Amino acid sequence: MINVINPAHGTVVGQVHNASVADCLAAVDAAHGAFPAWRSTSPRQRGEILRKAFELMMQSQEDLARLITQENGKVLSDARAEVGYAAEFFRWFSEEAVRIDGDYRRAPNGNNWLLVMRQPVGVSLLATPWNFPAAMATRKIGPALAAGCTVVLKPAHETPLTALAIGEILNKAGVPDGVVNVVVADPPGPAVEAMLDTGKVRKLSFTGSTRVGSLLLRHAAKHVINCSMELGGNAPLIVFDDADLDVAIEGTMLAKMRNGGAACTAANRLFVHDRVYGEFAERLTQKMATLRLGDGLDPSTTVGPVVSLAQQQRVANLVTTAKSEGANVTCGGTVADDASFGYQPTVLTDVPFTASILNEEVFGPVAPLVRFTDADDIVAHSNSVDHGLVSYIFTRDIGRGMRLAEALDTGMVGLNRGLVSDPAAPFGGTKASGLGREGAHDGLLAFLETKYVAGNW
Ligand code: NAD
Repeated sequence: MINVINPAHGTVVGQVHNASVADCLAAVDAAHGAFPAWRSTSPRQRGEILRKAFELMMQSQEDLARLITQENGKVLSDARAEVGYAAEFFRWFSEEAVRIDGDYRRAPNGNNWLLVMRQPVGVSLLATPWNFPAAMATRKIGPALAAGCTVVLKPAHETPLTALAIGEILNKAGVPDGVVNVVVADPPGPAVEAMLDTGKVRKLSFTGSTRVGSLLLRHAAKHVINCSMELGGNAPLIVFDDADLDVAIEGTMLAKMRNGGAACTAANRLFVHDRVYGEFAERLTQKMATLRLGDGLDPSTTVGPVVSLAQQQRVANLVTTAKSEGANVTCGGTVADDASFGYQPTVLTDVPFTASILNEEVFGPVAPLVRFTDADDIVAHSNSVDHGLVSYIFTRDIGRGMRLAEALDTGMVGLNRGLVSDPAAPFGGTKASGLGREGAHDGLLAFLETKYVAGNW
């Protein structure tokens, strides 16, 4: 069995079956067996099941939110928002299911016809992280089912309860047996590798760390499995001297503190122009200092703990090293004074461009502020890391904002906005942040194979 731990107390909130390799292979067999019938269902039928799943999920929003808070630690308001966001992927892809298109053209030489059709790629293995246990699952299950694929979902073993609850919702919505299978395995490596080795899995859609994504790409190469990778981030957030500071502070709080900083899209490097640096640092410190760390289920809590003791210690070490490299702590800078895995919301000022914290995905409530003067320099600094998921720009000069949006090497840009996620938008990164996009129409295409027929009649 796997014990599920509540990060707010370090106590066990549930137990789930630890799937053996044989269990995981049986799940792949079930998905493989169910694939011919599921791919033959009409797009409308698949769309309506997804629509039903959206409705059922929204009806259970409060229960699901509480479950997420208990196993993940995020505050209840963040958990409710996650359930709403997660359910939207079912609604969006219920609408996309009927928009699987094709193409029909005459060949340029006029001698024959070119027909293009799209078909489901096949059995899909979906592996998801603990930080958004609902949304990362529905962002994959929604398009996979819409496309006609059957799936095995392998959630993070830290947060399996939400994934199992979503599996139940899909059952109630009318998904036939074998179409959606959920397996929880600890350790995950042997289980995932065995499933990829069957030769029956044709798609791997992975969200998680760059380290594991890169390992799995190597493993998937053996059977040349179609891969989508949503990996880590190291987002720059740039505040220019002409920015509306009210908007910039609000956007920074969202970009930094959503999910207690445990988001791949979290602002990780805050570059602030010298002329507004002092005021920005003071106002951000004030805001961060008002946050209340605690159990996410308590209505007065505004920031939850990080997911584990190891992660708490990692964040603490990053702050200690930043201090030794010249950073000042203007608020926070300590672990919670109770048994939780909490870390106090922290602002670091005077962080040098060379500080090691700027090269790491913090994944916690720490905002490192770097002072800059030259706009060209800041593009080079922003692009100097391996990751390229998202960047944020705050300026009143929209021309400058758009020029920068083009120059920044990230898959997404927030312009005067601290939140980019939207089921209708293509989510994904460049460089070590991944391959492919989720959401939008692109998310559906990721589960479709293109077939071309050369015709003559
Ligand atoms: P992780 O890579 O440790 O785990 C992700 C998934 O992979 C989990 O299901 C885990 O059980 C599994 N896994 C772990 N080791 C494995 C192995 N050796 N073989 C096969 N599977 C293995 O990541 P995490 O700590 O759960 O999540 C945090 C990371 O996820 C961060 O880097 C974050 O940026 C990233 N993330 C990215 C996005 C995105 O959309 N780009 C979204 C959310 C999180």
